[in-house]
Amino acid sequence: MKPSHIEHIGIAVRNLDSAIELYEKLLGLKCYKTEEVADQKVRTAFFLAGQTKIELLESTDPDGPIGKFVEKKGEGLHHIAFAVDNIEEKLAKAERAGIALIDQKHRKGADGLNIAFIHPKSAAGVLVEVCAKQDNTCEI
Ligand code: ZN
Repeated sequence: MKPSHIEHIGIAVRNLDSAIELYEKLLGLKCYKTEEVADQKVRTAFFLAGQTKIELLESTDPDGPIGKFVEKKGEGLHHIAFAVDNIEEKLAKAERAGIALIDQKHRKGADGLNIAFIHPKSAAGVLVEVCAKQDNTCEI
């Protein structure tokens, strides 16, 4: 994949508003954006720590991926997202290398990114996301 950096870390929360307060206090940073991603059934909130974002995720539907995660495991670390360029090419290459993909093709994620998930079985139990800006670069 040769990622350029960790684009963001996704954290599943029960209540976005109280999690924003917690993280504003913890980081001493202001949440710069909230956004609903209907496709993923989440409301998200973002903080920028250097070049890496913290993405808080609250489910809008108990049957959505974050809803199920929180019900099973509680709040906590959900995924790590690596910034790549040429996301389709990287996904095809990963698949040829035997890496288990959740998404064969990218979909639209929050904050103007194209995203795809890699199966945790190919990453020692960690849900890995790869993402690229919609112009297919990975610059910040
Ligand atoms: Zn993410």
